[in-house]
Amino acid sequence: MEKRELVIIGAGPAGMTAAIYGRRAGLDVLLLERGAAGGQINTTEEIENWPGVQRATGPELGNMFREHALKFKTEFRTAEVKKVELREDSKIVVTNKGEIEAEAVIVATGAYFRRLGCPGEAERVGQGVSYCAVCDGAFFEDEVVAVVGGGNTAVEEGDYLTKFASKVYIIHRRDEFRADRAAVERALSNPKIEPVWNSVVEKIEGDGTVENLVLRNVKTNEVSNLPVAGVFMFVGQSPYDECVRGLVKAAKDGWIIVNEGMETSVEGIFAAGDVLNKHLRQVVTAASDGAVAAMSASAYINEQIHLRSSILEPESVTAFFYQSIDAAQARLSNEVEKAAKAKGIKIPIIDAYKNNRMTEKLGLSSQLPALVQLHRGGVEKVTRVDSESDIAKVFI
Ligand SMILES: Cc1cc2nc3c(=O)[nH]c(=O)nc-3n(C[C@H](O)[C@H](O)[C@H](O)COP(=O)(O)OP(=O)(O)OC[C@H]3O[C@@H](n4cnc5c(N)ncnc54)[C@H](O)[C@@H]3O)c2cc1C
Repeated sequence: MEKRELVIIGAGPAGMTAAIYGRRAGLDVLLLERGAAGGQINTTEEIENWPGVQRATGPELGNMFREHALKFKTEFRTAEVKKVELREDSKIVVTNKGEIEAEAVIVATGAYFRRLGCPGEAERVGQGVSYCAVCDGAFFEDEVVAVVGGGNTAVEEGDYLTKFASKVYIIHRRDEFRADRAAVERALSNPKIEPVWNSVVEKIEGDGTVENLVLRNVKTNEVSNLPVAGVFMFVGQSPYDECVRGLVKAAKDGWIIVNEGMETSVEGIFAAGDVLNKHLRQVVTAASDGAVAAMSASAYINEQIHLRSSILEPESVTAFFYQSIDAAQARLSNEVEKAAKAKGIKIPIIDAYKNNRMTEKLGLSSQLPALVQLHRGGVEKVTRVDSESDIAKVFI
């Protein structure tokens, strides 16, 4: 089976940034993408909040990311990842083009906005139809826009859009919002906001861009026109989490949970970008997550390689395990190193704090600092070494 150090799933801003950081850290990186590199930004006409680039189309920015990753010799491959599996201690990435064993995996599969599904929507995405107020609100300075939805996102984003738009209609199929009371009160007291109750969007019209919404009142069936320059859909967002669903810990609706190092609940599997359970889903936050995930993956891979060659693969070896965050243990580790050198013996010195997972796996966490005798990766004997006199005893 093909074996790789770092396999990244998804070539959006998170995945491509992870690839740049991974390659610069000297890793062998394979980036798997089922569609075109760039991710969601490929569907937007204008990005003006990626620092350093005042204005670019989404595909232009996506291409810059791709070129940057290629400059560092990232290997891109078109493949759809069906699932990630754990087989014994290995991580297997199952794709529609075969299986790959990975030392570490970064899941950067992104998310998608649920569409309303009415006629005129799909062809006007980026031409007045938007799913993100932070991304596109500023393009509607002094224009009349509409928001569709009745939950917290719709009400809060509607309020946010009044910073730019001259008027914001909030179209909701019921006669009251589902959002929190505070958010509703704030929105309803905003003079620029006008709710349109009991109504659904039947059709989006316009010559290229959005010019008019055809509405239907669900109570009276009356059809009316609402001229607007833009419409923001807030009918939900979902993660592309299928390939790791049930494997890693996730919040409601599948958003992946990670710690600040972008580690998922499964050792060696990291996640980054919009697929995460997080507050702000943007290019800049996805890229940041990707960088962190790659550096964590790099540390993890180096740890695995170093541990394998120094303590797991040799027939038999004696290593010193200590906690570097404990000053006394850190001093002892220097003394052990000196004593071993004086005796002409090579002893791997393992920082249990940095190699926490391996220390736990070997069952050593509560027995440190200690000299540990290992045979073919299994612990044979643990000798506590608490002081310099203990060192003298074991090195006689
Ligand atoms: C219309 C629109 C406008 C936007 N405007 C802005 C803006 O102006 N500014 C801004 O900062 N953000 C904007 N965003 C948000 C921004 O695009 C996202 O936050 C960002 O792209 C997230 O990056 P990501 O890498 O996490 O995920 P994505 O960009 O979603 O990339 C994930 C990639 O993974 C691939 N993938 C998924 N599953 C698999 C699988 N199983 N196997 C292989 N590949 C897989 C997908 O094909 C995709 O290419 C906009 C989004 C949209 C939709």
